[in-house]
Amino acid sequence: MRPECLLCDAMPPVKLTLMTDGFCRQLEGLSLRGAPWRVMRFEALSALLEHPAGPILFDTGYSGRFFQETRRWPARLHRWFTPVRLHSRGSVMRQLAAMGISASVVRHVFISHFHADHIGGLRDFPEALFHCSHAAWQDVAGREGFGALRRAFLPGLIPEDFMQRVRFLEDAPCVRLPDRFSPFAEARDVLGDGSLLAVDLPGHAVGQMGLFLRDQERGPTLLAADGAWSSEAIRSRRPPSRLVRFLGDWRALNATLEKLHRLHLAHPEVTIIPTHCPEVWRS
Ligand SMILES: [Zn+2]
Repeated sequence: MRPECLLCDAMPPVKLTLMTDGFCRQLEGLSLRGAPWRVMRFEALSALLEHPAGPILFDTGYSGRFFQETRRWPARLHRWFTPVRLHSRGSVMRQLAAMGISASVVRHVFISHFHADHIGGLRDFPEALFHCSHAAWQDVAGREGFGALRRAFLPGLIPEDFMQRVRFLEDAPCVRLPDRFSPFAEARDVLGDGSLLAVDLPGHAVGQMGLFLRDQERGPTLLAADGAWSSEAIRSRRPPSRLVRFLGDWRALNATLEKLHRLHLAHPEVTIIPTHCPEVWRS
């Protein structure tokens, strides 16, 4: 039984279910400074949020489109940097169908950032609005070839009518967070009902956003996307290896990691879920 949390006791609760449709293999030592140089699986988590507004998704995993979109050079290099395997349980859309949730009833998809392992399933949800930061979209929009590769972005994963369906988080109501959310000072109220509060997690990708919510079981939860690659990184405030400094903005990445670390220390009752953390998927 978790203690009552002052952090978000006023937030309408949602039911959170984690899913993964695939993983990549990469060296643990790259993801966490000082970790062993052994090959590890990094699951691409996405989340179903069962909300009064209907089912909502936080990111959409790889989907089989990852392979379609990386057939040609230079996008094929994605497969070499991050060798991907899909699970037999199928895409996020198929997993929802197995739970009795049809793709057409998903009306909201939250996009933490535009790396290929987070947006693979966007095309599977034709009725959904997309919630993301304008800064994140601006950073990838129009990029192709090596320009897209440098952002780990595959433009073919974006639906043609994306601009009609996107709702930028900068346009959502800005709410000042009480001190008990510290060190996060403000958030965007995604649906305007206080249930999903989006916070900046820049560094790993321009405009990356995470999501505070209150899960029925876990209590206060932060879906932290790639703000850190593991819970251990947050606990021990250890950044990735310097060998991957070229990925994103290193200073901002460290500042975000520091914030997550301080949140962990100040609010141990908050479950922080990094997208690729092996502990999260085991638990
Ligand atoms: Zn990423």
